[in-house]
Amino acid sequence: MIGDMVGSIMVRKISNLCTHMAGPIQSTLSASDRSVMGPVINKAVLSVVRQYWGFTQLRSLQAEAIEAGVGQRDSLVVLPTGGGKSLCYQVPPILAKRTDVVVSPLISLMKDQVDALRSCDYPAIALHSGLDSQTRGYAESVLRAGEIRLLFVAPERLMSNGFLQLLKIANIRSFVIDEAHCISHWGHDFRPDYRQLAALRQHFPEASLHAFTATATPRVRQDIIDQLELVDPTVLVGSFDRPNLVYRILPQVDLYAQALEVLRRHQDEAVIIYCLSRNDTEVMASVLESNGIKAAFYHAGMDPENRRRTQEAFAAEQLNIVVATVAFGMGIDRSNVRCVLHATMPKSIEHYQQETGRAGRDGLEAECVLLYSAADVIRWKSLIRLSAEKADQSEEVTTAQEQLIRRMQSLCNSPICRHKSLSEYFGQLYDNPNCQACDVCLNEVEVMSDGTIVAKKILSCIARTGQRFGVGHVVDVLLGAKTEQVRRCGHDRLSTYGLLKELPKKQLISMVYQLVDQAVLERTEGDRPVLRLNQDSWQVMRGEKSARLL
Ligand code: ADP
Ligand code: ZN
Repeated sequence: MIGDMVGSIMVRKISNLCTHMAGPIQSTLSASDRSVMGPVINKAVLSVVRQYWGFTQLRSLQAEAIEAGVGQRDSLVVLPTGGGKSLCYQVPPILAKRTDVVVSPLISLMKDQVDALRSCDYPAIALHSGLDSQTRGYAESVLRAGEIRLLFVAPERLMSNGFLQLLKIANIRSFVIDEAHCISHWGHDFRPDYRQLAALRQHFPEASLHAFTATATPRVRQDIIDQLELVDPTVLVGSFDRPNLVYRILPQVDLYAQALEVLRRHQDEAVIIYCLSRNDTEVMASVLESNGIKAAFYHAGMDPENRRRTQEAFAAEQLNIVVATVAFGMGIDRSNVRCVLHATMPKSIEHYQQETGRAGRDGLEAECVLLYSAADVIRWKSLIRLSAEKADQSEEVTTAQEQLIRRMQSLCNSPICRHKSLSEYFGQLYDNPNCQACDVCLNEVEVMSDGTIVAKKILSCIARTGQRFGVGHVVDVLLGAKTEQVRRCGHDRLSTYGLLKELPKKQLISMVYQLVDQAVLERTEGDRPVLRLNQDSWQVMRGEKSARLL
């Protein structure tokens, strides 16, 4: 254990370090870009890490995140699942000898964390609705006495008046907001309860706030910073790219035949198959069984005992294939998953990244196959509308969720390197011209040989019609449709009228979106989006730039 004096010297040193750190928001820092802690502090951190968890070194960005925590500099830490976020907030209160509060969305997650911490003699408790009054009384008394280092609590409980009072008495000086993306409606898991956390700064102006999340686009990161009113935060973003994953995204033609083909490549290996509904998981599992492949289904509608057994069998390598809804994920503890197969399109790229991220945690090659269909998009949209009605959700939130679906759909429909698309979605550059680890770079995606010529035709039609129309009308003109609007605008007299009449309508619509996805065409936001040309559109039309179309 580190002595009192050493502890306080350390804290002072780290505070100095932090106040001298340059730059306001540093968006994408890698471990090598930043100075790590001084040797004395580093040694103390390592000794705590060794004492409680038996680890001998820190992972990428953990040192920097711990430094911000100990020095009480506001921070936003984005590290992929499994990157080791917990350690970043578990170490500082030990070193600084204080009690920190961790806001966490789910009681089950809190319980798991507290159990794990207690098993290594780390003083932690969780206060939640599931506690009886005696246990709660005890927890509150040890909290007041300053005997614990981490207090886990759900956001709605934290922000209640009585609780805020208790925390003031306990002299809380640092708050950790886990799953911080839940505060943003631009994120994939918006929780209205998290919104209340925006008042934390007013209640505790002296305390530091530390936001943690596994997935956040640049827009969500900024929203987290704004809503929590983080002051000059240290922003640490781990790399989103997973070079050992081979991505394949292909249209669903015959789901079960395609799934069986994928599984043939992974005999006796661990595979997770994601489906949209509970029923889909059961049907898929029985189709596999009838083809002689042992598989279990997993969803939130099963009885807890069965669910637990399936999860444990998978973790213990007694079961290799699980067909699941998104409910299967948290706490999956198996690093040798060799394939994640999506039998449905996920509802956001964030979900896709998290779910595919469960493959190849051991660093060895693993395959991620997504079989998408336009029907998935329709199903997701109607599910979103349905739950929005039930929850009386604002239109803004629903629109944001629909945009996430659209971005996911774009990923499926773009013949662009998957590693590049994913990295760029999360705001990181990817300049490897050929990843050798996705269907596009491996030349498995059939791209139109005359894509640029077709693109030119589409773009010139948009130019001719005055950049005032949406996808539907532009497509009508290109197909030579005889609609009322085409006639009224006189667009049947344009040279681009009927220019692509040999193409199926669906394919043409998809191509227009593909051009938007490749940023050689703009589509305005709002109720009545219209297509607009940008500089790159003109370059394509002049033959200075090429476009790829499926
Ligand atoms: P996250 O919350 O980012 O998904 P966790 O904090 O649960 O990740 O950490 C993932 C796993 O990595 C855990 O089993 C944890 O004990 C382990 N881990 C974290 N940091 C280290 C480290 N420095 N050395 C070894 N293992 C670590
Ligand atoms: Zn690639």
